[in-house]
Amino acid sequence: MTVSVDLSGKTALVMGVANARSLGWAIAEQLLAAGCRVGFSYQGERLKSELDKLLVGREGVWTQQADATSEEDMTALFTRVREEFGHLDILVHSIAFAPRAAMEGRFVDTTADDWNTALNVSAYTLVSAARHAEPLLREGASIVSLTYHASQQVVPKYNVMAVAKAALEAATRYLAADLGPAGVRVNTISAGAMRTVAARSIPGFGNLYDEAGRRAVLGRHATPEEVGKLALFLLSDLGSGVTGQTMYVDAGASITTMPLQ
Ligand code: NAP
Repeated sequence: MTVSVDLSGKTALVMGVANARSLGWAIAEQLLAAGCRVGFSYQGERLKSELDKLLVGREGVWTQQADATSEEDMTALFTRVREEFGHLDILVHSIAFAPRAAMEGRFVDTTADDWNTALNVSAYTLVSAARHAEPLLREGASIVSLTYHASQQVVPKYNVMAVAKAALEAATRYLAADLGPAGVRVNTISAGAMRTVAARSIPGFGNLYDEAGRRAVLGRHATPEEVGKLALFLLSDLGSGVTGQTMYVDAGASITTMPLQ
């Protein structure tokens, strides 16, 4: 039996592609391969050239600058979505940031400014994006974001970003409850450690990455492509009964307390 996912006629907005290693890009590749029309938003002009390189030769794609924490940028972004597509079937939120100082020291020393920045960028922007998207979302639409297991267990140096991920996971459930009656699903993917720009900014990421590999019951790291495939499931009709969930794609690293051998 062959099961293929056909997203032709569907429209998507992917927020947060920095380069080819971005988990947002791994998801976008699956959407594009399934025939979806995709718009991309990026934070700063310096990222535009990376995105343009990735999109060379692709049809039905467009890009727009948008700082997800700016109400003005978000209004302009979703105005563009309406102009380009008229409606939206898929929203991908692949955005996170915490000031480095907040991830270098002790959690107890987190400043209010750093707390507010991390939770605003990494969690509130999902709520804001969902609200801006809501008038454009059709029945059957699906929203996905990216989280990490540090929301559930202490991961050294993850600090305030772990709290932001816990907020993101709770926000996923509340958004699912608000949007569910309209037939819109909201889920978050808990990805294993993967080498991306954002990951490299986490102090000690190399150790974290190596430990995740030792603990993974599949004996290897999960890959960005596997994140993309889980996202395709959640963002397509295959996941039609799934909402409000945090789904793991980490090769089983989160189910063990120590390496199996
Ligand atoms: P990435 O390639 O660096 O993507 C993160 C993106 O967030 C970048 O494009 C970044 O833009 C964007 N961003 C930050 N602040 C923003 C803002 N105010 N407005 C708009 N965009 C903003 O890293 P990634 O690892 O793929 O991260 C994507 C998501 O996966 C994040 O939520 C991350 O926490 C999550 N995740 C990653 C891992 C991992 O190990 N890599 C594991 C689990 C979950 P700039 O480059 O301009 O800052």
